[in-house]
Amino acid sequence: MNAPREQVIKMYAAREEIYPREINGRYARLRWLFVWLTQLAFYCTPWLQWNGRQALLFDLGARKFYIFGLVLWPQDFIYLAVLLIISAYLLFLATAIAGRVWCGFACPQTVYTEIFLWLERKIEGKRSARIALDRQPLSARKLGKKTAKHLAWGAVALWTGFTFVGYFTPIRSLLGEVMTLSFGPWEWFWVLFYSVATYGNAGWMREQVCKYMCPYARFQSSMFDRDTLIITYDARRGEPRAPLSRNGNGNGGSCIDCSLCVQVCPAGIDIRNGLQYECIGCASCVDACNTVMDKTGQARGLVRYSTERAMDEHLTPTEIRRRALRPRVKIYTAVLGLIVLAACTSLYLRMPLKLDVIRDRGSMGREVEDGMIENVYRLQIMNTSEQAHVYKIAVSGIDTLRVADADTVRVEATETRAHPVRLRAAHGAGHAGSNKIAVTLTAVDDPSLHVQESAVFIVPR
Ligand code: SF4
Ligand code: SF4
Repeated sequence: MNAPREQVIKMYAAREEIYPREINGRYARLRWLFVWLTQLAFYCTPWLQWNGRQALLFDLGARKFYIFGLVLWPQDFIYLAVLLIISAYLLFLATAIAGRVWCGFACPQTVYTEIFLWLERKIEGKRSARIALDRQPLSARKLGKKTAKHLAWGAVALWTGFTFVGYFTPIRSLLGEVMTLSFGPWEWFWVLFYSVATYGNAGWMREQVCKYMCPYARFQSSMFDRDTLIITYDARRGEPRAPLSRNGNGNGGSCIDCSLCVQVCPAGIDIRNGLQYECIGCASCVDACNTVMDKTGQARGLVRYSTERAMDEHLTPTEIRRRALRPRVKIYTAVLGLIVLAACTSLYLRMPLKLDVIRDRGSMGREVEDGMIENVYRLQIMNTSEQAHVYKIAVSGIDTLRVADADTVRVEATETRAHPVRLRAAHGAGHAGSNKIAVTLTAVDDPSLHVQESAVFIVPR
């Protein structure tokens, strides 16, 4: 009797190295346009200044997000939640219309893989040269090329990690700390963490991230329907495949079986086998096949953006566009419009004045010459409006409490001003220890513009 055979179910297929071939074309240009736009925005934005501070800074320590003229405080974090909801809806909308267009053109994984591939090509050469190099035994030439590639990848990854941290710590002072090697441990950790993630994901893992790690890749198919644009191979026109030599005599379909569409695919799949979950919708195969069609004198579009319905019912491009505006898309658009409208209205009606009262911890409550108790504070006043205002400072909470200095302060438009102020109360007012007080700011020219913050007044025991 034969022993039962053991069956091994592999949960993870061993990776086969993919060597995507370079391709030019409309979609390659579009993808590089996204690379430039996203990376210029990513690398340059933290260096922009606004009112003497970093224009875009997520200061987690101070719990303030600076977004150009807008300053979001912890109580404004609802706007960030709304921003995330709007981003998610935009993604749903784009996916319902054009499938994995985000994955193929703007996702950081795609963008950094494109940059790393470009470096690889510049250093190791074209696809055939890279394959040959990997098959060669180790030599000084191979070692030199591999070292140069990894150094180039490492430099991009480190600069990316540094820039990423620069969104959370002022990037100019961060640069100074890098120069003097006086980085804090958390800065080190996050710069290295993000650098290693960039290097690993874009240099080594590439399509594996999309295949096994990205949650969006898993659930987005539920947003597809028969009218969603996908990359398709027109099998009716392409089959039976025929090598070029046989194609001229009318025996074959349009596909000359050149495999160029497979060679350029960063996911390593053959689009002629139909829609596959590994396909990131980058349209490289469209560019590749159009090039082949041009060279063989055939009409473009054997591999193209189309929809399932269009393939089944032979719809024209105009009909495809008309069907794109289906009820589901209209509902997504309407909900998105409502959310954007609500967020904009709320931002418009938001009180453009913030106040932080920071007690001077260097000087405790003290008795001054006229027998009064004095505490020193710094008022952090943020005028987020577009006009300068003079604000009147009023205090309450303890009888006889008053502002010892001038009780008005002028703050320029969108200026953040640290204003020192001394508060005094008569001896015997309040109780020994901490007394809760309130500081109110009211615009002299517009009393509806006012804000109140609580603070503590220390009476010595
Ligand atoms: S590039 Fe076009 S012609 Fe060449 S194998 Fe792919 S589908 Fe066929
Ligand atoms: S099949 Fe085409 S669109 Fe899909 S990942 Fe490969 S090259 Fe990109």
